[in-house]
Amino acid sequence: MADRVYIFDTTLRDGEQSPGCSMTVAEKLRMAAKLVELGVDILEAGFPIASQGDSEAVDAVAREFPWVSVAALARSNRGDILAAATSLKNARRPRIHTFIATSDIHLKHKLKKSRQQVLDEAVAAVRLAREYCDDVEFSAEDATRTDPDYLEQVSRAVVAAGARTVNLPDTVGFSIPEEYRALIARIVKALGDSAVVSVHCHDDLGLAVANSLAAIQGGARQIECTINGIGERAGNAALEEVVMALNTRRDLLPFETRIVTEHLFPCSQLLTSLITFGPQPNKAIVGENAFAHEAGIHQDGFLKERTTYEIMDPKSVGVPESKLVLGKHSGRHALAKRCEDLGMPLTKEQLDTVYHRFTELADRKKGLRNEEIIGLAREVVEETKQTGVTAS
Ligand code: MN
Repeated sequence: MADRVYIFDTTLRDGEQSPGCSMTVAEKLRMAAKLVELGVDILEAGFPIASQGDSEAVDAVAREFPWVSVAALARSNRGDILAAATSLKNARRPRIHTFIATSDIHLKHKLKKSRQQVLDEAVAAVRLAREYCDDVEFSAEDATRTDPDYLEQVSRAVVAAGARTVNLPDTVGFSIPEEYRALIARIVKALGDSAVVSVHCHDDLGLAVANSLAAIQGGARQIECTINGIGERAGNAALEEVVMALNTRRDLLPFETRIVTEHLFPCSQLLTSLITFGPQPNKAIVGENAFAHEAGIHQDGFLKERTTYEIMDPKSVGVPESKLVLGKHSGRHALAKRCEDLGMPLTKEQLDTVYHRFTELADRKKGLRNEEIIGLAREVVEETKQTGVTAS
């Protein structure tokens, strides 16, 4: 049986805290409903100490979806942990997620604390959180720029203090897959079965998904990610990409999630409607062009057999169908198919003429709308009727 990987969604926390992505409590509830339908294992709903809205959102999500594990974020101090615990008081499956930075660069410039102080605060925070719930996650912020010996020391200490999940974030998107895999493998070996090792990758170098996949090959079993990859700066690992990479390459990645992939596209669409921007058109899985073909050679192959140019069935991620974009790179095959789909089947001779005029027009434009294609086809069919021949 394939190993289970837990999907920890932080769209409503890391995603929501980034520019243009803030959501009201009502909006978070709508998004949470969709994420629950999608099948995420853990829903991080906010950072309660940060605002009243975050605190209310955590409470509202936990009460609305009692069967889902709901996480609240807290720095490693008493005030934050109490705020998280309070917002989770009605939760049936609460998780307190506490964090502190462990890299020297953060210790020196941000926290102005020694390694020993940070270690002590991490342990104290986990102990305190465990007084409120059994499910405590600890994150070593900036883990990938932390001295690995110290990171291992902190990881062992927080597990001894009661953390069940140890998250080793690539907070600044600095790591590369092989390096990250080795770091994860080291901590997994050190912790054994005593805790789940988790990853949280940022996309500053465009490696968030690759690093997350490398991490599970190194033994991590929880991936923190967001819909459309939203999040601080360049964003987090995109949930839809992680999940579809696992599903599509099960031959090399024998891991299972509970994600119902048919909900991926609707989930992405809902998020876009709630925040100020959507995924770029060429975004994997959920972008507008993710299943669109324009080049003639591609369209011809695709129409003969879909799998020539598609590694996933668009329906498997909830995209209604593949799109053939008719532009200057398109061929006769796709044009004929479109005319037929639009109720205007053409003879071979008519098609030749329509194709000729179509390429002239497409050369000057970025792609032709269906109305323009119908217009061209109708024109040619009319001419054929009148004269029996057409001028090209
Ligand atoms: Mn983050």
